[in-house]
Amino acid sequence: MPPPSDPNPTAASFDLRGLLDGRRGEGLALMQAHINPVFAKVLKTIGFDRTYERALGAHAWDAEGRDYLDFLGGYAVVNMGRNHPVIRRALEDYLALDAASWMQFDAPLLAGVLAEELVRRMPNRLERVFFTNSGTEGIECAIKFAKCATRRPAVVSTVRGFHGLTNGALGLNGDESFRQGFGPFLPGFRQVPFNDLESLDRELARGDVAAFVVEPIQGKGVNLPEPGYLAAAARLCRSRGALFVADEVQTGIGRTGSFLAIEQEGEVDPDMVVLSKALSGGYVPVGAVLVRRNVWERVFTSMDRAIVHSSTFHMGGLAMTAGLAALHVLDAERLAENARRRGEQLRKGLLAMQPRFEFLRAVRQRGLMIAIELGPPRSLRLRAAWSMVQAMDRNLFAQAVVMPLMDDHRIITQVAGHQLPVVKLIPPLVIDEADVQRFLAAFEQVMVGLHRFPGPVWDVLRRLGRNVIARDSAAGNGSSAAAAPLAAGTSP
Ligand code: PLP
Repeated sequence: MPPPSDPNPTAASFDLRGLLDGRRGEGLALMQAHINPVFAKVLKTIGFDRTYERALGAHAWDAEGRDYLDFLGGYAVVNMGRNHPVIRRALEDYLALDAASWMQFDAPLLAGVLAEELVRRMPNRLERVFFTNSGTEGIECAIKFAKCATRRPAVVSTVRGFHGLTNGALGLNGDESFRQGFGPFLPGFRQVPFNDLESLDRELARGDVAAFVVEPIQGKGVNLPEPGYLAAAARLCRSRGALFVADEVQTGIGRTGSFLAIEQEGEVDPDMVVLSKALSGGYVPVGAVLVRRNVWERVFTSMDRAIVHSSTFHMGGLAMTAGLAALHVLDAERLAENARRRGEQLRKGLLAMQPRFEFLRAVRQRGLMIAIELGPPRSLRLRAAWSMVQAMDRNLFAQAVVMPLMDDHRIITQVAGHQLPVVKLIPPLVIDEADVQRFLAAFEQVMVGLHRFPGPVWDVLRRLGRNVIARDSAAGNGSSAAAAPLAAGTSP
């Protein structure tokens, strides 16, 4: 007998649209009441307390129909643009199938096909795939596999690196502001400076290192690898019996102009590659860890260990569909190529402004992963103002760019620096010429305002600075290095 087409036709329908219409505008109050009042306060303080009604591609609209240009890209989740019609259609098709997802003791076809598609895109022979639901879960998987395969306890990561915020991944985190209050972390986890092969080799020589986990480009700060660094690091790992894990959660899926960022770094031969974020197509959380076969075989050694590493929700049908459709769109629309082209336009446009703007210190760019680093000015008058702001909070100055970009131009960006303030751009890979021009024109205007001291931008900075000082004295510490609400969005 065929299955019934609707097992429960009498169930009352759930009115999502009615719910949204009925409670329009309540998001911030609800966040304040039940989710994260501190974050709600940050949103208000930096003027990000907007209500977005719709989004498409690189744009979103609020209730008044005002258009926002999204250069934050959901933290590099929406590489294919928001609500891509092809991905949405694929998900609708999947839902219409009434498919048998999460049967658990079965071999879901879509997971197999997505694994095949990912393996095909690897620069080397990584042939096993473990699916996850997030980036940090992929890192946890890589840590476990590395320890099990090598029978070694230690994992090395980089200073200023970011790999997620669960317990194991946090142990790899190279930014004290995320770690404060959550230690101690797993024993044997150590850090070396990014781009420093000597320090890495010193750690590897101790003989206890299971893996070196590294972002090909550090997300926070967009710190680029020196030529040859990643390939040499991978070789060093191999020679010392450690595994090389490329965390491409943010840099992967076309972001930097190639499918993986390591493809642009010579012969990098990773033992594991971690993906997530944009694999979701901007719809369904998903991640994947690509694993060299001999590593995988040392973990899953027998039938009684067939699911020794697993998770209830991995290989979900919607997630696998989103992944397949996302890869399809990435290829069909040549988005990696667009990332290269638009990134280059942005870089050139920004560098052309550098002679005019003393605060514009450096531009770091690979594809559509861009850092605009601000630094001390030459002229004495501006320098005094800069020093005052830097003394209050190291990220504060970048807010003087992020806030007016939002307030005056409705362009969404983020702060993502370390010692020096950085404005970071990670837009969807679908941005076009007009988006680039809109950003450059807006940025230029913001820079003009910033170089006018005294001026309205500096008044805002002074007000924000007072908040920082109040926060620090309330917390009983004089240090502005504590996790700063004003550095909101300093997540990589
Ligand atoms: N690894 C890198 C390089 C990331 O940028 C991130 C998130 O920003 C993660 C891991 C963690 O991913 P998730 O937030 O999905 O846990």
